[in-house]
Amino acid sequence: MAERTKYILDEADMPARWYNIVPDLPEPPPPPLHPGTREPVGPDDLAPLFPQALIAQEVSTERYIDIPEEVLDVYRLWRPSPLYRARRLEKALGTPARIYYKYEGVSPVGSHKPNTAVPQAFYNAAEGVTRLTTETGAGQWGSALAFACATFGLECEVWQVRASFDQKPYRKLMMETFGATVHPSPSELTESGRAILAADPASTGSLGIAISEAVEQAAQAENTRYALGSVLNHVLLHQTIIGEEALKQFELAGDTPDVLVGCTGGGSNFGGLAFPFLREKLAGRMDPVIRAVEPAACPTLTRGKYAYDFGDTAGLTPLLKMHTLGHDFIPDPIHAGGLRYHGMSPLISHIYELGLIDAVAIGQEDCFAAGVRFARAEGIIPAPEPTHALAACIQEALRCKETGEEKVILTALCGHAHLDLPAYGAYLAGEISDHALPEEALEKSLAGLP
Ligand SMILES: *Cc1c(COP(=O)(O)O)cnc(C)c1O
Repeated sequence: MAERTKYILDEADMPARWYNIVPDLPEPPPPPLHPGTREPVGPDDLAPLFPQALIAQEVSTERYIDIPEEVLDVYRLWRPSPLYRARRLEKALGTPARIYYKYEGVSPVGSHKPNTAVPQAFYNAAEGVTRLTTETGAGQWGSALAFACATFGLECEVWQVRASFDQKPYRKLMMETFGATVHPSPSELTESGRAILAADPASTGSLGIAISEAVEQAAQAENTRYALGSVLNHVLLHQTIIGEEALKQFELAGDTPDVLVGCTGGGSNFGGLAFPFLREKLAGRMDPVIRAVEPAACPTLTRGKYAYDFGDTAGLTPLLKMHTLGHDFIPDPIHAGGLRYHGMSPLISHIYELGLIDAVAIGQEDCFAAGVRFARAEGIIPAPEPTHALAACIQEALRCKETGEEKVILTALCGHAHLDLPAYGAYLAGEISDHALPEEALEKSLAGLP
């Protein structure tokens, strides 16, 4: 095999359909429930929030869904994304393992989020919607939706978690450059925001609160719908382009992964990479261990409860059966803002319950150490979120060094840190500490489950 570092597909070889894992699972995932009736929600319940095309995808049992030509056209701005063999990292670690990473930082906003923002904006525009509302934490999702809305001529209004709004002014400027309007959350503009501010005027916000604000606005305003950047089935569906490309790239490499690791906030970059490989595993064509990595400060899969809970803090969304820390859980302000969500994708939660994937939680100090190690070897500074995946990848590679196993490890490098450098600044200054979650805090927030 030639000593290649990059595996790049031709545009013509870019996958033209998304993969829906639901029909291949041994049991279907439990449906979302209406919070009032506790009956499964129907399309009519979701119509105030989402366009029909996305509702259809949310409940689809078709194995493959064609990607519209208009969406493929925008994807071609940065896709197919590269798969790298991390030869320099392997050398630095002295491991016999072969490490590969699929890099999504080449997108216009530096993460995987546009893979779903673009089709979501497209389907909304196609159904006559003129404005989208959303929430954002660290700002990755807000930037992606702002870009996608600019592409299809939609207005975009973003509620950004107050803590990030203050700490990360560049993300806001990026959203505004793409034409979006950005509000700090909690805000005085919504009932949900006002209620939080009345109880705590200094609230630094959470993703759950920001979702409540954006959902409330979308449900009330004309021609306005809501867009979610993770968690839901249609979001994970759109992200499967990552794994479909990676499968083709592994063919080019003549290799097969033994271990696949990805970080999980709401589960979309992980599901996007993992599901096509899980399809191959379920079909008996390969047998990788598939591992989700979450922050010790927000350990949804490893310490949360598998139960019906709201997706937001105010309780405006349908009830989702998922691994949750409780909808009023507010995680410590760790730097991986994209991993600070109280819940987890129902599909990932279901697949975890079925024993098809495993999960680990890692503290942020170890993650930043892995991020720095990776950056110095490979020249890409990973976003704080995927440093979690890299920490698990390096652990696995070091185990291989001990045992002499030549495992093949694949990791999702879902974004770069160019707008998160202050987090690295804090790490380099020795100011990063670990926020393991106390059992009492967890019990308290789980007591609030509906
Ligand atoms: C949003 C985000 C995440 C977390 O979301 P998932 O749906 O779990 O992927 C992780 N990494 C980056 C770079 C993000 O922008």
